[in-house]
Amino acid sequence: MVLSLLMGKWGGMSQREVTLDELTDLCLRRGFVFPSGRIYGGLSGFFDYGPLGVELARNVLNDWWRWFVETRDDMYGIDGAIITHPRTWEASGHVESFIDYIVVCEKCGTEYRADHLLEDLGIKVPEYTAETLKRLIVEHNVRCPACGGRLSDPQRFNLMFSVEVGPRKSVTAYLRPETAQLIFTNFKNVVFSMGATLPFGIAQIGKAFRNEISPRNFLFRLREFTQMEIEYFVNPEKLDDCPRFGEVAGLEVNMLTAEDQERGIGEARKMTLGEAVEAGIVK
Ligand SMILES: [Zn+2]
Repeated sequence: MVLSLLMGKWGGMSQREVTLDELTDLCLRRGFVFPSGRIYGGLSGFFDYGPLGVELARNVLNDWWRWFVETRDDMYGIDGAIITHPRTWEASGHVESFIDYIVVCEKCGTEYRADHLLEDLGIKVPEYTAETLKRLIVEHNVRCPACGGRLSDPQRFNLMFSVEVGPRKSVTAYLRPETAQLIFTNFKNVVFSMGATLPFGIAQIGKAFRNEISPRNFLFRLREFTQMEIEYFVNPEKLDDCPRFGEVAGLEVNMLTAEDQERGIGEARKMTLGEAVEAGIVK
């Protein structure tokens, strides 16, 4: 992965590309982040913010909150619990389908995320099902990269961290895998306590947790991470009548439409939000 670092704007230096490894190295040396549990060898997928990193992160979070919540009268903030009621995730479908597929080496026991293993070998995964993954592994004779051993059939693996609540382990709850569901479960609380009327939004900043099979790419795929999220609620009968739409109708964005993706186009198109609504891309 290569990132473009724009230094010319501030330092009079020329623009050059840096690799993710270089950026990682810089962040570690300068005290932005440290691998968590480093003195014990580290725990994959977890990072601690260092002295500079925590200041940078707080600035971003505070500015986001000020801009999207404090300066708007149609926005309400919440800060939900991290250990969450299991029924929340049954209702959302996460218990049933928030899964990845793993394959296990029958010789050395190493576990791999099946689609990552295939993609790393340059094999395209057209459909994320156990049958397709199994077929591709057999067709391409994919073996364990570590020892060359045979791989198991793909197995379902739920990405939620479960946690036993109470001394007698009577309730199995989950560390929330996203912040959105806490917003949905608090919708009525916000409406009744604050007298919120449509359209309005509920915002939340907080930690989310996913038991990634193969955390990687530095801070881009973690097992513990922070989300900044807004769910905005509108009257479905008045979708074309949002009083704030005029503020953003002229905003140009990169749009990768579902239709383009189905045609195999990976490049986003530039268009204004107004054009996207007019073309029926955003409904
Ligand atoms: Zn192996």
